[in-house]
Amino acid sequence: AKQMGKNNSQYYTTQLSEEQMLLFELETSLYDAIAHNQLYLNYQPQLNLDTNKIESAEALVRWKHPTLGVISPGKFIPLAEETGLIISIGEWVLKTACIQAKKWIESGYGLKTIAVNISVKQFRQENFVEIVKNILESVNLEPKYLELEVTESILMQDRGKTALIINELSELGVKFSLDDFGTGYSSLSYLKKFPFHTIKIDQSFIRDLTVNQQDRALIDAVITLGKGYNMQVVAEGVETEAQLRLLEKFNCDIIQGRWLSMPISDVEFTQFIINFALD
Ligand code: C2E
Ligand code: CA
Ligand code: CA
Ligand code: CA
Repeated sequence: AKQMGKNNSQYYTTQLSEEQMLLFELETSLYDAIAHNQLYLNYQPQLNLDTNKIESAEALVRWKHPTLGVISPGKFIPLAEETGLIISIGEWVLKTACIQAKKWIESGYGLKTIAVNISVKQFRQENFVEIVKNILESVNLEPKYLELEVTESILMQDRGKTALIINELSELGVKFSLDDFGTGYSSLSYLKKFPFHTIKIDQSFIRDLTVNQQDRALIDAVITLGKGYNMQVVAEGVETEAQLRLLEKFNCDIIQGRWLSMPISDVEFTQFIINFALD
């Protein structure tokens, strides 16, 4: 057993340094990703269960690395946060998503919002409000079409500053959505203090919805709570018909997930929203 333990730890050490080398390589090439047009967005449709229409999409960034292929945001967003590159990547994402949304809205497909993920560091940058305003102006997109997704971690520190930023943008008409709800250190009092338009129930709660009575009770309660605060409730990661049925029963407003569609390219999304309206 001792022998095995030793081998295991050696194996582990080798793995770790390979991983570190990969991280280093990623970090170096991430600097060039924007300039070399390696970033692109996918869009995941959201279905409004009341109207049975696709009224929103969440923009999700992807990185097509020249040798490593497509890298998921779960791998490079943390790196971008560490290196500060998230500032320029975030701005690129926001602008690209707004330009795309403008096209869909003008085409009359019935899109009402584009949701964009905002990381903590991006939100905390000095002139975040100005950056958002400038992008909306340059793209000529009305603020009401933009929904910024933030996580509970944004509410943890410097709550006064956070409130100022959220309030200033909300007054313009920009919407805010509380992402991954239930996974952080959420205190229900946050919902009262910040003008969130939407809460997104994390997919980990949706996953076991049909088998776990506790998750079911929690989702039922969160949906009721959201309604009480006049917020829209989105269920993320809806994969099965059975999950959908339960969410309908609980009066969930919007669903997003594999059952409807995984994130797709802009071209595929255009086709998707057209086809959906026809069906
Ligand atoms: P998120 O904001 O919670 O996004 C939802 C993630 O769940 C996406 O992963 C999406 O592809 C995945 N997903 C959607 N439906 C299903 C489903 O039915 N089943 C399963 N198993 N997964 C589903 P993705 O695109 O890999 O993004 C991961 C995370 O990376 C996002 O989590 C978000 O936190 C971050 N991220 C993505 N794009 C951006 C961005 O542009 N900026 C920032 N700051 N973060 C981003
Ligand atoms: Ca999100
Ligand atoms: Ca989420
Ligand atoms: Ca409803």
